[in-house]
Parts: sequence; structure tokens; C-alpha cells
Amino acid sequence: MRKISYQIIVDKVSELCINANYELGQDVVNAFKEAVKIERSEIGRDVLNQLIANAEIAASERVPMCQDTGVAVFIVEVGQDIHIEGGTLNDAINEGVKKGYLEGYLRNSIVSHPLERKNTGDNTPAIIHIEFVPGNQLKIMMTAKGGGAENMSRMKMLKPSDGIEGVKDFIIETVRNAGPNACPPLVVGVGIGGNFEYCSYLAKKALFREVGKRSKPPEISALEVELLEEMNQLGIGPQGYGGSTTALDVKIEIAACHIAALPVAVNLNCHASRHKEAVL
Ligand code: SF4
Repeated sequence: MRKISYQIIVDKVSELCINANYELGQDVVNAFKEAVKIERSEIGRDVLNQLIANAEIAASERVPMCQDTGVAVFIVEVGQDIHIEGGTLNDAINEGVKKGYLEGYLRNSIVSHPLERKNTGDNTPAIIHIEFVPGNQLKIMMTAKGGGAENMSRMKMLKPSDGIEGVKDFIIETVRNAGPNACPPLVVGVGIGGNFEYCSYLAKKALFREVGKRSKPPEISALEVELLEEMNQLGIGPQGYGGSTTALDVKIEIAACHIAALPVAVNLNCHASRHKEAVL
């Protein structure tokens, strides 16, 4: 049984929160640069260049790339042969979020009650998903998920008879309805299958995959490419000013499901598609 100290997790989580908000991943920056080369709209190209400059300024001056520094969402792969010394994993992650958002001067965006709307003042509680895996490592994956794109995300329980065409229509309709409100160019996470809650988790999990990295099953990989092409014909464009870069990528995760169900979830991510990870 390998021991990992509570404080090491706190410090690592704090670092992930700050770096996710200051340093846009190279995968996303590269996608902006590729999009500039093929974007048809002049305003669209201008916006993409501004997003590249914004990412460079945020990284070099150590400031958040967007005022919305997001909900701290974690997927943690916990090796079954580790023991956390000094406290619980959930407490360590929340303490790390509190520390990171304070020390990184990141906006606190969480209210403690959905109706009373009082800010908790430290961006906690984080949303934490745990997956148990073999081994003695702790892999912490974090995203700072912006509210605008999350608000335009959708989930629907389709009928099996809706088939692949129903799935595609729902995904495209979600992106069309989002328009400029999800801060495009988007990264589109899709979950297909599972059940009501697991499908939405899959859509979120898909967003942790690097931009440009395709799904393994060939039919799903082909679907990602097809949907991306279709989204980029919607004309929404960078920041909704029109153009051919509405989405940078589509990532799909699938799971087994009930014979009577075909759940589909679409979790939109904005151009500030922030995720970092660490292995302890
Ligand atoms: S949705 Fe994304 S880009 Fe838009 S304000 Fe929120 S974090 Fe910023």
C-alpha cells in the first residue's frame, strides 16, 4: 500500500487550478493556429488571432485567460493500492481549490445554494468524479469549466428508433441553439449511451481528451469528424461573429445502455477549453 500525503494533494490541486486558468493547452492553441489558416471570414480570423494573443498574454503575464475562471471539475483515477494520509481525498481537493483560487487571484464563481445564490467565497465545493483503477498512483485531471458554455449544454433521452440520425440531429441542434452564447469556437463533448446521469458524465469526460485526439472505435472517430464538418458549416464562427470555425473539435464517449434507451448528452466547452492533469 503506497501512502500519499494529504498536503501533497492540496498543493498539486492548487497548482492545477492556477495553471489551467493561466496556460491554455498547446492542443487548443495549435487548433486556433490551424483554424486561422482556413477560416473564411476576416472577422473570424481576427477573433482567432486575438484568442491566440490572449492565450500568450495570460501565460506570460500569469493572469487568467478569461474573467470566468469556472467551476473546478475533477476526474480522479485512484489506484486501489494507495492510502491517503492525513485526511480525505475530497477534503484535499477542495482545500487545493480554495488555495489555488485565492493565490491565483481567480474569480470565485460558486454559490452555496442554487436558489439563495450566496457566493461561497472560495470557489468550493469542487465537482469530483472518482474512478478506481489498478495500481498505486493518483491521477488528478482538472478542468475549469466556464458557465456560458455549460449553460448551453443539453441532455436528452432519445428512443432507440431515433437511431444515429436522431443522435446527430440533437448534437447539431444543440450547437446551433448555443450560437454565440457558448463562446465559440467550441470543443464539443458528447456522451452516447449509459443512463441519464452517466451519459452526462461521459460528455464531460470527453472534454478532458486533447483537441485533435480521436476516439478509438473507428465508427465513433468517423462520427466525430463528420459532426465537426457539419458544425463548421453552421456559420456561427469565432465568438459568433460568423465564419467557418464554430467548433475546434468533437469528442465522443460511448457506453452500454438499456434496450429501451438511447441517451445523448452534449457538453459544450468554450474557446477557453482549460484542462490540466498530474500524476502523484
Ligand atoms: S464560457 Fe468560457 S469563454 Fe465564455 S465567459 Fe465563460 S469561461 Fe469565458
